[in-house]
Amino acid sequence: MAVLIGLDIGGTKIMVAAADGKGNILRRERRATSTNLGRDLANINNMIAVVTGEDEIIGMGAAIGGPLDWERGIVSPLHQPAWRNVPLKALMEKKWGCAFRIDVDTNVAAVGEYRWGGLSVSRFLYITLSTGMGGGFLVDGKIYRGQNGAHPEVGHESIHFRCANPSAVQCECGAPDCLEALVSGNGIRRIYGKPAEELSPEEWEEVAYNLGQGLRNMTALYAPEIIAIGGGVAVGGGERFIESAQNVMEEHLKLVPAPRVGLSQLGYDTALRGAIAMALNV
Ligand SMILES: [Zn+2]
Repeated sequence: MAVLIGLDIGGTKIMVAAADGKGNILRRERRATSTNLGRDLANINNMIAVVTGEDEIIGMGAAIGGPLDWERGIVSPLHQPAWRNVPLKALMEKKWGCAFRIDVDTNVAAVGEYRWGGLSVSRFLYITLSTGMGGGFLVDGKIYRGQNGAHPEVGHESIHFRCANPSAVQCECGAPDCLEALVSGNGIRRIYGKPAEELSPEEWEEVAYNLGQGLRNMTALYAPEIIAIGGGVAVGGGERFIESAQNVMEEHLKLVPAPRVGLSQLGYDTALRGAIAMALNV
């Protein structure tokens, strides 16, 4: 049978799946990311061979951290120092003889949530809250891009924040007041001295307040119908965390209608399922 291949290439793990034409995952493999490019590429090719088996590959899609040139498929994921200017699209198309499409992981996750979550709204914002933070914005199902294809970085907006330990707010990009520095897994560790899963209810409230201010800014600018939030920190905080953030957003939004806000429906597979949707080229 014909299968679609999806890849989620992250700084700690690489996931590869084969799916049928409806996006149902048939087989999957997962391995730790190494510090060696050659080993990672060999692992990727091996995982593709394993999940494909005797089937025929009709398309491939992949999610990876930025920055990247999405049209030429040349990637330099920030958190994988061994990967610099890797022509992944050319390498994979030569090796496997089918189209290979790749984009920033948060864009791919947005595509997955939209396609497999059955959404049909015009303006859709997807946010990932994990080690770092990012987002993907779709207009009529298509990825919104900035000048020269630049990926908008919603995590690096400045917000009006609350923090009991303001001197610990420091974004990895160098700015002192980014949303990502307040609500991402790494930011939470710096501020509270522990991982998100150990936060007290009061500390979760503070993180939710800051996320809510970020949602308010994003809504004021983009006016989306739906905002879906995924990633380990969001899933760990759960419905209550998302509801608190939504309440803060609504309290501070005076002129723009509030979007529907909820957790990702695809859990930890959003980017992988998005990669499968990219393989379909829709
Ligand atoms: Zn920043």
